[in-house]
Amino acid sequence: MSKILRSKKEIDQLLKRKYKLHFVPTMGFLHEGHLKIVNEAKRNTESKTLVSIFINPIQFSEILDFDLYPKDLKNDISKLKLLKTDFIFIPQKNFISNSISKIKIGKLSKMLCGVDRKEHFDGVATVIMKFLTLLRPEYIYLGEKDFQQILVIRQLIKDFSINTNVRVIPTVREKGGLALSSRNKRLSKQQKSLAQKIYHELNGVKSKINKKKFHLSELIKVKERLLKHGFKQINYLEIRKEKDLTLIDKNYDSCRIFISANIGGVRLIDNLRLGKTRIIGKFVSK
Ligand code: AMP
Repeated sequence: MSKILRSKKEIDQLLKRKYKLHFVPTMGFLHEGHLKIVNEAKRNTESKTLVSIFINPIQFSEILDFDLYPKDLKNDISKLKLLKTDFIFIPQKNFISNSISKIKIGKLSKMLCGVDRKEHFDGVATVIMKFLTLLRPEYIYLGEKDFQQILVIRQLIKDFSINTNVRVIPTVREKGGLALSSRNKRLSKQQKSLAQKIYHELNGVKSKINKKKFHLSELIKVKERLLKHGFKQINYLEIRKEKDLTLIDKNYDSCRIFISANIGGVRLIDNLRLGKTRIIGKFVSK
């Protein structure tokens, strides 16, 4: 039986039981990506799984994006019950108010998605801080799709000496490669098939790098191709280091390719691991 919790009082009651909590934060409208994370969290039978469903208003840069964020609480609860999730935490709207004390994340929040979503990662860090201090979970589970978010949360945990471990779950994709996202619901069939091109292009870059054939200028060509296919805007397409998201350079480092692109009013992100990579001259090489 899954137990639904809605208030701090109920959480405080739960904490008295001294369970080891494996915590999965979500904004709801659950898809197979979320469910895979929940299943992973449930693998540890000595602990209890707690999934939160909360659309955090202070991590949205545009009010329209917040208003249009898909919701289906009833369906989410049935999915989580089917998985025998131990606890489902659905905080009330005032869990995060506009006047809440805010966490300010440094450099990490200013690159990639932080360039045009200025307050986004401070908003994410603030809600996660609130969850972590309230729930004191042994583990927090995060999806690789939101790679920058993982680094932000890792930094938050380190800076504030929080006793929670991070587990990262690989990105779950549709057959055609599109990373599952609640926002995909807002895409038409045609826009969805266009969105598949993101993964296709990222894979193309990866396989060229594996063959040592990737000239840096090709990133511009990839962007041009995506725009020609019908993307409205490419917010970024960059190869950066996994450890701190600085740009790839002549030293070998574990790198990833990161992309954010808009179709209609929907902002999509994705990333792919490239392994140890560096720049030689104008070429990206293994
Ligand atoms: P969200 O509900 O979008 O805030 O996501 C909640 C958690 O699920 C975050 O840790 C995300 O990184 C993760 N997540 C979202 N989409 C996927 C996916 N396609 N595969 C794996 N994890 C995901």
